Order: sequence, then C-alpha cells, then structure tokens
Amino acid sequence: STLQSAALARVKPSATIAVSAKARALAAAGRDIIGLGAGEPDFDTPDNIKAAAIVAIHNGETKYTDADGMPALKKAICAKFARENGLTYDVSQIHVAPGGKPVIFNALVATLNPGDEVIVPAPYWVSYPDMTLLAGGEPVFVTGEEVDGFKLRPEVLEAAITPKTKWLILNSPSNPTGAAYTRAELQALADVLLRHPQVWILTDDMYEHLTFGDFEYTTIAQVEPKLYDRTLTVNGVSKAYAMTGWRIGYAGGPKALIDLMRKVASQTTSNPTSISQFAAVEALNGTQEFLAPRKEAFEKRRDLVVSMLNQASGITCLTPEGAFYVYPSIAGLIGKTTPSGVTITDDEVFTSELLEAEGVAVVQGAAFGLSPYFRISYATSEAILEEACSRIQRFAASLS
Ligand code: PLP
Repeated sequence: STLQSAALARVKPSATIAVSAKARALAAAGRDIIGLGAGEPDFDTPDNIKAAAIVAIHNGETKYTDADGMPALKKAICAKFARENGLTYDVSQIHVAPGGKPVIFNALVATLNPGDEVIVPAPYWVSYPDMTLLAGGEPVFVTGEEVDGFKLRPEVLEAAITPKTKWLILNSPSNPTGAAYTRAELQALADVLLRHPQVWILTDDMYEHLTFGDFEYTTIAQVEPKLYDRTLTVNGVSKAYAMTGWRIGYAGGPKALIDLMRKVASQTTSNPTSISQFAAVEALNGTQEFLAPRKEAFEKRRDLVVSMLNQASGITCLTPEGAFYVYPSIAGLIGKTTPSGVTITDDEVFTSELLEAEGVAVVQGAAFGLSPYFRISYATSEAILEEACSRIQRFAASLS
C-alpha cells in the first residue's frame, strides 16, 4: 500500500509557495533574483501591535485559550464587523484560527460530504480547490473573464448551481487578480443566491483594507441581509496589518456553523497562539492610522506596474481595484520563441523562461485556473518593481 492517503493524493502542493522556494534556491545559488511570487506585505507589523504582544508575554498570557479564540479578541472582532461592515455578530458567532487559511479549511471540513460541490470562481486563490478536495468535496470552476474584470457574472453563477452545491466561495479584492466587486455586482450575485437556499456563501475578505481610489468596499452579508443566515464572512489580520507570521484569521457566521468549526479546531489545532491573539486585539482596537499611507503606497505601486507592463510588447494588464496583485495577459506572446529557441506555448513556459532569462519570479496563471496570464505580487518597493518590470519588458522584446 502507498503511504499517501487517497484524500491527500487529490491535492497539489501550493504553487505560490513552490515559486517562492525556487526563487530562494536560485538566489542562494548566487543568481540575481527578484521574487514577485509571494503574497505578503513588505511592511513591518506596526509597533503598537508588537508592544501588545510583548506585554502579553510579560503578563504571563502564555497558556491555552478557548480553542476558537479568547473572548477579548472575539469582542474586538465583533466591534470590527459592526464598525467597518455594518454586520452584527455576537461573540458566539465568531471563530478565530491560526490564519485565514485554517478558518476556511475548518468551515469546509465541518460541512462537506463526498459529492458536495463548492463553486470556485476562477481565477482563484490556489488553496480553495485543494482545501475543498482535502475536505472530501468537489470544486466546480466557473470563470470570470478578462472583459468583466475577471469577475463572476450572475448568469454564469446561476448555470453552475446544482442540488449538490453546498458553498460558493467569493474573494474580493481577489488574489490573484486584484478585482473587487462593487455593491451592485454583489447584489446581482445575491439575487441569484436568494433563489437557491441550499447554497452557503463563504466570502474571503482578507484584502478588505486594500482598495484604491474611491472604491467603496462592501461584503455580501451587508449588501443582502437575507443571506446573513448562510454566509461565513472570513477576514484576518495577515494582510491589513502586515501580520502574516503571527497567524490569526477569523470569521463571523451563523452560530450553528461556528459551533461545528469549533469542534474541528478543538480536535486539531486547539487555540491560535495566545500572544498573537493579544496582538490581534491591539490591531483591531488600536490606531488604524497607518492603514491609509500604506494603502497609498500600494496604489502607487499598482499604477507603476500596470503602466510598465502595458508598455511591454505582447502583454496587456488591467488596472485592478485592490489587493496587491495584477494579472497580466500574455496572449500576445503565445507562439513566440526565446533567443535560446524555446517556444512560449503557455504561461508555465513563459514564467519559467522569464525566471531563467531575467531572474524574475512570478506565478503562472495555470495555477489560478485561467491562462494565458501570470500573477505579479507588487508588495515590494517601487525601485524593485521598476527593475522587475524593465526586465519583463526586455524579456518580452527578446521574443520573436
Ligand atoms: N485568503 C486569501 C485570498 C489569501 O490570499 C490568503 C493569503 O495568501 C489567505 C486567505 C490566507 O491568509 P492567512 O495567512 O491569514 O492564512
């Protein structure tokens, strides 16, 4: 018999983590590598948040807490949902886990039976399909086309729903496209969902605080209160507060679902780190002053990257509403050949040849379910982005 379980055999390792690892290995071997693969803010965790963690350590707050988060953090999360999203949750409706990723996994594992379908709009965050498979469900892919800003059309959603549909996963702003749904677009999806009461909605709002210009951020349970009783609103401190390493994610939802998720956590991870929970309380309750300047920095980087990519021959790039990703098309480069004689047949060949020729690490669109594209994470300095985009321009120009 083989060592690997049948459940795990259905799963691929994370493609984005693989690209980062490859870039690190090349850099360690002495190559000049610019890594635009990882989805993590380059900013440091703010000092007030670090200080709260240090105080927690000195106060001996180093013991187990409730499996799905301590009451003080759940209260801070309830206040956040009320203040920023107009959503009323009681502390009994809150789940905290070691990151947004386990929050989502706990929800899927708690609810999916074999054959249950999870609608995953492509381009998708790499983990949704694989977490669905690991939890025993079946991902059903629907595509948001470039002409629609990579957003899911209501009629495409309608056509994908079956009696077996258990969940729809929404992610706005999106990893990997940066696309964010307007209130009207969410309402149109909600109108479809109201006709299908068996479908639960998992909205991954991890990039809420990163939207640009005058975009008004909304989340689906706020837009359509009739969906509140079957929506899990997922969020976390990783991206907004530059706290990826602290591992705190959370969700608000119907108590019956939250109870099931607590049961999963109680037999798997137990509580997220107590010290990180104190830091997250400070993140949510403390000053929010640094959010605006960081958002502005990201917006400038987005504009730089979009402009430089659109000047590369054969590449076109939309201007997304949020997150720190762009998802340029390489349709104009398919079929061309590198100076070393390699034909660019798809986005996987494109990204590996780009890494080989110019030392720029990006992730192929195939990993996110829509080709021929690639994803750039622009969470790095303008100087580095400018150099990376110049190299991409040079690589594109070298193809014939
Ligand atoms: N959801 C999306 C869309 C993400 O991009 C990420 C991180 O890359 C996560 C969830 C996971 O966040 P965390 O690091 O809190 O587990």
